[in-house]
Amino acid sequence: MTREVSSPNGAGFFEIRFESIGGLGAHVAGKIIAAAAVLRMNMNGSHFSSYGSEKKGSVVRSFIRLAPADKAIRTSAPIEEPDVVVVFHSGLLAHPATISGMKADGILIYAGHEEDIPEGLSNLPKTAKIIRVDAQRIAFEEKSRENAVLIGTLAEAISLLDRQAVLDALDATFADKSKKVVAANARAFNRGAEEIEIVEGAGQLDGDVPTMQSNPVWGYKSAPIGGVLPTPGNTAHNDLHTSRTGWMPVLNRDDCIDCGMCDMVCPDLCLVWSTHTNEDGKPIVKLDGIDYQYCKGCMRCVETCSTRAMTREAETPGLADSLRVPLFPDLTKAAGDKHA
Ligand code: SF4
Ligand code: SF4
Repeated sequence: MTREVSSPNGAGFFEIRFESIGGLGAHVAGKIIAAAAVLRMNMNGSHFSSYGSEKKGSVVRSFIRLAPADKAIRTSAPIEEPDVVVVFHSGLLAHPATISGMKADGILIYAGHEEDIPEGLSNLPKTAKIIRVDAQRIAFEEKSRENAVLIGTLAEAISLLDRQAVLDALDATFADKSKKVVAANARAFNRGAEEIEIVEGAGQLDGDVPTMQSNPVWGYKSAPIGGVLPTPGNTAHNDLHTSRTGWMPVLNRDDCIDCGMCDMVCPDLCLVWSTHTNEDGKPIVKLDGIDYQYCKGCMRCVETCSTRAMTREAETPGLADSLRVPLFPDLTKAAGDKHA
């Protein structure tokens, strides 16, 4: 039987784009959806991903193109006007590129905690369907991964996909692992399909979201001379919180001996120190805490700490903000004043 592709675009394809960060399993999830469509639903399909720098926490986009069995797919171009966008971390909605090209009647699925309505949702079309699923919590509870939850949500949200076929493809992908892993993924998948919330009234845009220019700003003729930093210090504005995948390091000051080992291994200068004077009048430094704006959750500090003063904890909503010690208080204040 040839499966009909509902709402195909001008080229006759149904297109899905995953917006994610390295480490959340978007590439594997895309592969599972395409494999399910081709091997179990008699469709044509193609899948590929694009990565930024090859490191945990960098942006990953995964593209799935589907068509009926009698329609060949002869393009590997990135998907610029998707029918569905799946966002693996709600923090990514702060970047306009995440929803670039979304159609007025498109579907947006995002991983977010209960009552998590990111500001970026207001840039969506009024008529788009917005679905939230607490993928992180479900994955924790089922000892699975967020990608299993999100493909469950996707399989339920799109009538084109056969939920059981996608679940079978998920099982097959992990069949050579333990039965426990397969069962945990299946539970996460089914909860992803069942525990969805429709977010009403968040989109404010009339019509489609404009497609953002994907060409680089600089080419080989226009790039500035290598080795020159035209805007030194610009990484102070970086925000790496979307790189964390549900876990964060937490400092227990009482157990810290200020040995500095965590600072030696931290790749992103997240640890904040202050200088004091000891009883003998000598200068000493003390670790005050972590600036979570720069922390990508690699856990090197936790693994290195010999006193267990640094521990790995589940990141619940608001915890990082409440424990954050700003590395650049003036910058933080300026940003606060701007938003006040
Ligand atoms: S490694 Fe542990 S004990 Fe040493 S400074 Fe860091 S948190 Fe404190
Ligand atoms: S987890 Fe620790 S080592 Fe890794 S970026 Fe965060 S503070 Fe630095």
